[in-house]
Amino acid sequence: MQQRSEGNHALREGVLAWYSLHQRGLPWRATQDPYAILVSEVMLQQTQVSRVIPKYDEFLGRFPDLSSLAAAPTGEVIRAWSPLGYNRRAVRLQGAARQVMAEHGGKLPRGVEALRRLRGVGPYTASAVACFAFGQQVAVVDTNVRRVLGRALLGETRPPPQQVDRLAAEALPLGRAADWNQALMDIGATVCAVRQPRCQQCPVQPSCWWAANGQSQAALVVDARALAERRAAYRTQPPFKGSSRYYRGRIVERLRRREGNRGVPLAELGMAIKEGFAPQDTPWLETLLQGLEQDGLVRRDGERVRLP
Ligand code: SF4
Repeated sequence: MQQRSEGNHALREGVLAWYSLHQRGLPWRATQDPYAILVSEVMLQQTQVSRVIPKYDEFLGRFPDLSSLAAAPTGEVIRAWSPLGYNRRAVRLQGAARQVMAEHGGKLPRGVEALRRLRGVGPYTASAVACFAFGQQVAVVDTNVRRVLGRALLGETRPPPQQVDRLAAEALPLGRAADWNQALMDIGATVCAVRQPRCQQCPVQPSCWWAANGQSQAALVVDARALAERRAAYRTQPPFKGSSRYYRGRIVERLRRREGNRGVPLAELGMAIKEGFAPQDTPWLETLLQGLEQDGLVRRDGERVRLP
């Protein structure tokens, strides 16, 4: 037990020292503003860091705080979200902002459980905001962190989430949770790659099960194959041309580009989004619009469709 505790101490020291030298300079790490951190976490949910960086500054310029976001027409928020995609995130983010204004006096709650009760805030986002904005001692486990801890502590690239969550919580260095979580994310993103982990450059290496046991080439091949399959599966999923998601995206984009927000007549919208749109396609279009309306992304005014 003593040995394990000393090992953990050395691991933490090594990782934190590495982070102080090699951390990625991401804009949301330069702020303590909980709202800005929430915005970044929602944007990062399904979008790569490189695509989020320019939009993050622009969005905060347009909606600098919770009250401005809560007060804006939802259509403006959806417009400002372009081109990140997965537009429901924008609606949910504004929903959370409105909830905070109504129920928390305009201040984001500090605890994970209270954050999780906000609309559209899941366990990961709640942990990230609690840790990075409020300095709470909680683990923040994304796919990169899961891979690093899985390999280092269990010798597995894709360990069971619950097991890693428990280990991640146990590994947190007292008072340094934010740096520790960010460090593991950076190691996963820049050193402990899925295909070719660069163990010689990794601060975890002295304590890493995977490295100590000589990661088998066979395991890496399986990992690489699994990654390729996941990517292929993603490519064949919506939105490919002709899927519902594809047309939903086209509808929102069409409305977003419309000057003002008077809306677009139904038939005109159909012809704009689908080649050869005919009157018999109207029920199909209505079904798509119902789904978008339920998600808070469009509004119907009789025969006209607009952003909310
Ligand atoms: S030593 Fe290698 S396998 Fe272990 S965490 Fe670092 S890069 Fe990943």
